This record gives sequence, C-alpha cells and structure tokens, in this order.
Amino acid sequence: MTPRVFVTRRLPGAALTRLAEHADVGVFEEDRPPGQALLLERASRADGLLCLGTDRIDATVLDACPRLRVVANYGVGYDNLDLEALSARGIPASNTPGVLSDATADLTWALILAVARRVVEAHDAVLAGQWSSWKPAWLLGRELAGGVLGIVGLGRIGRAVARRAHGFAMHVIACSASSNPARGAEEVEGAGLVEWVSLDELLGRADVVSLHVPLTPETRHLIGRRELAAMRRSAILINTARGEVVDQAALFDALAAQDIAAAGLDVTDPEPLSPGEAIVALPNCLVLPHIGSATVRAREAMAEVAVDNLIAGLQGERLPCLLNPQAYRA
Ligand code: NAP
Repeated sequence: MTPRVFVTRRLPGAALTRLAEHADVGVFEEDRPPGQALLLERASRADGLLCLGTDRIDATVLDACPRLRVVANYGVGYDNLDLEALSARGIPASNTPGVLSDATADLTWALILAVARRVVEAHDAVLAGQWSSWKPAWLLGRELAGGVLGIVGLGRIGRAVARRAHGFAMHVIACSASSNPARGAEEVEGAGLVEWVSLDELLGRADVVSLHVPLTPETRHLIGRRELAAMRRSAILINTARGEVVDQAALFDALAAQDIAAAGLDVTDPEPLSPGEAIVALPNCLVLPHIGSATVRAREAMAEVAVDNLIAGLQGERLPCLLNPQAYRA
C-alpha cells in the first residue's frame, strides 16, 4: 500500500514532487502553522510527517498518530521535537544540517554590519527627509577591523561566521559546549584561526558577541542579566540561534540603559514578535523575522534533505540525518 505523508506547509522547489513518487502526499496549503488540532487531524493517518520548527511534535501528537514511522524536520534546529517521546515509540527523526549554514552565516554578518553601521537608521533618515547635507558627525557607527568577534557555539554555523570574520580583519574568540580554553589559539577547520576561551572571558573581551548554540534546557537564557552585565558597554549582541537563548526582558533593560551598545536579533521570544513590543521600538535594537536560512538555495536544499530522510524512513532505511539513534533500539 502507498504510504501516506503529511507536510505541514508548502515548500519551495521540486522536492515535494519527488516525494509524491513515493507516497500519497497531503500538504497544509495555508500560509500559517496548522496548529495542534489540525495537525492531529491531518497527521493521524500518516506514515510520515514533514514538519517545521513552528510545529510542536510531542507525546500528544504522537499518540494521535499510531501509524507514524518517520518525522523529518524542515530546519537544523529541532527544539520543537520531543526526541524522548519519538524514541520511546521507535520513530526516527531528522533535521537538515549544513545546507543552511552559509545562508545563516551571511545573515549573521548582515546583522553585524547593519547594527555596527546603523544601516536601517540611516535608511529611515532618508525616508524621513532628514538628509540635508553631508555632516561630519551624523550617524557615526563602529568599525569592525581590529575588533574581537566572540562566537558562542562554534558548530557548523558558528564556523561559517568565523570564516567570514577574517575577511573583516577581526580576531575570533570562541567557546563551545565541549571546548577547552586551555587549547589557546589554533586553526579550526572551516573557521580559520580561533582562540578558545571560557564564556565569561568571551563576554568580557568581545566587541561583537554572536550566538550559535542550539536551544536546549542548558542553553535556555544562557545570556541573562549576569552575562549582559559582563559584556563591554560598547559591545553588540547578535542572536541568530533561538530567541529563548537570551533572557529578552534582561536584554531590553540592558539596551534601554545602554549597558551594552546595541543588538541584532533574527530570533525572538516569542515569535512572531508584535510591533508593539517595547524592544522593537528601541533605536539600538534591530529585529528581523527569523530569516536566517531564507535564501532560495538554502530553502530548496532543506526541502531536498527533509524529503531524502522521509523517503529513507518510509523505506525502512536508516535516516541520513538521524537525530535519535535510540529510536532503533525501542
Ligand atoms: P551545530 O553544528 O550543532 O553547532 C552548535 C554548537 O553549539 C556546537 O559547537 C556546540 O558545542 C555548541 N553548544 C551547545 N551547547 C552549548 C553551550 N551550552 N555553550 C556553548 N556552546 C554550546 O548547529 P548549527 O547547524 O551550527 O546550528 C546552530 C543553531 O542555529 C540551530 O540549533 C538553530 O537553533 C539555529 N539556527 C537558526 C537559524 C535562523 O534562521 N536564524 C537557521 C539555522 C539554524 P559542541 O561542538 O562542543 O557540541
């Protein structure tokens, strides 16, 4: 019998056409997340599920989907998946690592440059008719060359951000979950020369702090009041990881009091963020609507990777981007 697959959103590119050669594919056609009730209804008879970060896949959903054999997440972050619940039911799950690293690193640099050189403020000034002449002290920003970039989480995206930093003549310092500051400075594949430091040292030295950790119980509010207070008053915080990695109330206070200079956020807590939220109105905070991987190439490649994993799961093969090997032991 042809397996059934539910896809929680239309995806760019031709990957879903390829999936249709292997399965009976149902797609939620609206331009919004289906929400739990619709997800339960549409996925309840599915053998495979292709979901987005906005779909929470937990025990309640899984209990309503007794036929489910594979879950493919469209994205590299998978904090929306309850891996324990999936593994307990013997359901393998996958993500889309690597294919979005360059797109997300480019967007990180777009934020760094836009915040450091006040690009959006300058554009707004032109729109507001404030461009009266060339003024020596108008819209002065910060120069990056010779400065220190601190990368929290030197994984795939963190390394791609580090690689670009050398072109901007910045010195890169970094920490990761398993890194040891005693390693000092070394060449890291895909990142160039990196000096390993502790998180506290990184916060105290960096001119730009850029976050690239996954959202886990350990990294939730990794950057809170204490960490913001440890940053330089002239420093910029960039978050393209997950909104909850930062305590947003503490960040608002630090920005409003100018305890740190500015922030660039591609991710917020919650998402979407209403335009009425106080942090959006701060002149020293630039907010983007979670567009880190939003390039044609990355989004099409993510669809191809998710479909590869889904087809493998439906055919009883090990998923190429398996997140929970425990599922095969259940
Ligand atoms: P990755 O390759 O797994 O890298 C994650 C890095 O974070 C690893 O180096 C890991 O250290 C480190 N880490 C984990 N816990 C840490 C902690 N407590 N303190 C310091 N470092 C820690 O993941 P990736 O592909 O680079 O993606 C990173 C995250 O970016 C994703 O999980 C996702 O949430 C986010 N993302 C956002 C967008 C967007 O649109 N804005 C797009 C793509 C991804 P070890 O190497 O020692 O394990």
